[in-house]
Amino acid sequence: MIKINENFLKLQAGYLFPEIGRRKRAFQEANPDAQIISMGIGDVTQPLAPAVIEAMKKAVDEMGRTETFRGYDDSGVGYEFLRQAIKENDFKSRGVDINVDEIFVSDGAKCDTGNMQEVFGLDNIVAVSDPVYPVYVDTNIMAGRTGGPAEQGRYEGIVYMPCTEENNFVPDLPEEKVDLIYLCFPNNPTGAVATKEQLNKWVDYARENKAIILFDAAYEAFISEADIPHSIYEIDGAKEVAIEFRSFSKSAGFTGVRCAFTVIPKQLKAYTNDGRAVEVAPIWKRRHCTKFNGVSYVTQAGAAAVYSPQGKEQNQQIIDIYMANAKLIRETLSRIGYTVYGGVNAPYIWLKTPNGVSSWEFFDILLSKAHVVGTPGAGFGSAGEGYFRLTAFATPDNVKEALERFQKV
Ligand SMILES: *Cc1c(COP(=O)(O)O)cnc(C)c1O
Repeated sequence: MIKINENFLKLQAGYLFPEIGRRKRAFQEANPDAQIISMGIGDVTQPLAPAVIEAMKKAVDEMGRTETFRGYDDSGVGYEFLRQAIKENDFKSRGVDINVDEIFVSDGAKCDTGNMQEVFGLDNIVAVSDPVYPVYVDTNIMAGRTGGPAEQGRYEGIVYMPCTEENNFVPDLPEEKVDLIYLCFPNNPTGAVATKEQLNKWVDYARENKAIILFDAAYEAFISEADIPHSIYEIDGAKEVAIEFRSFSKSAGFTGVRCAFTVIPKQLKAYTNDGRAVEVAPIWKRRHCTKFNGVSYVTQAGAAAVYSPQGKEQNQQIIDIYMANAKLIRETLSRIGYTVYGGVNAPYIWLKTPNGVSSWEFFDILLSKAHVVGTPGAGFGSAGEGYFRLTAFATPDNVKEALERFQKV
């Protein structure tokens, strides 16, 4: 008799975005004339930059000629031309020395942040922020590191670190000893960023406790304040204890193209049961090349064009559009009396629901009265209750219209 992997049965039904979709569809069916504006799911709306399109077209032509055709990427971890561009532009430009063989190109930071836990033992204690990007938790449930869902939808075996107004949505160090720590800055969903001092504390904690930090920097390109670190490797000693995830999805509109990368420095070690230190990078490479066969040449050519002078300029203009949306959302909502966070170094606005209404109540009110869809904070964890996430990824016209309707609610 074939047995199911029962870890999957521990996952909570009614995942956040399907439930949002269900409520949206039900409202639309009952109100066919309503023009619903979505500021819910974190997907981009601006088209790819012309420099990227041009590079991808050129790559397609190369694929159509015998002399320039390419099959499998033999390295399995990304073409050298792309990893070199990443090294120079994402790290060297910020005073960080990362080698090309410490960079692993993939088809998404979702997959990488989800898969990375596989190379670590099942008895590690995992710590996540609350609210949290659900991928970190769900992949640890699937792997069997947790019990079933307990109170407030939390799982036994996971250490939740509340992110609240009191700590500026940057988690405090846990009191218990943890081994695998997920941090995401700039943060989805709160839009918070961590300062150098705050990241320093985390790196020190990881070094003292022989822990590893999984640092999700998918929104790095949205940082606007000068003194906020873009990479965790700007912190002394981080190379020994941190893995960094980056993605072209939000920074260059690649959500439908698919390209990302992960950095694992040579110095990063984990330990065997008898205390022997083992390099993590070769193990990840082994896993990556066994379960994944590389990102398409056309896609990697497009990603490399993100670092060309035109690519940089064009993508910055797109980011400026989103961040102008964020500013407008933040300022308009503050003016009409909402308490809002984020939207300065991230394309997310984290607003406090008025009069203590719950996140889902606020969702229903906003949908029925303003025909605007956002994301209930409670969907990201129990500490998100009483909050609501709006994204700045909508078109400027939609943002303006949504804000006008907001003012009438
Ligand atoms: C969007 C997002 C990513 C990027 O995922 P891709 O798979 O690269 O599209 C990673 N982490 C967070 C927190 C995100 O919101």
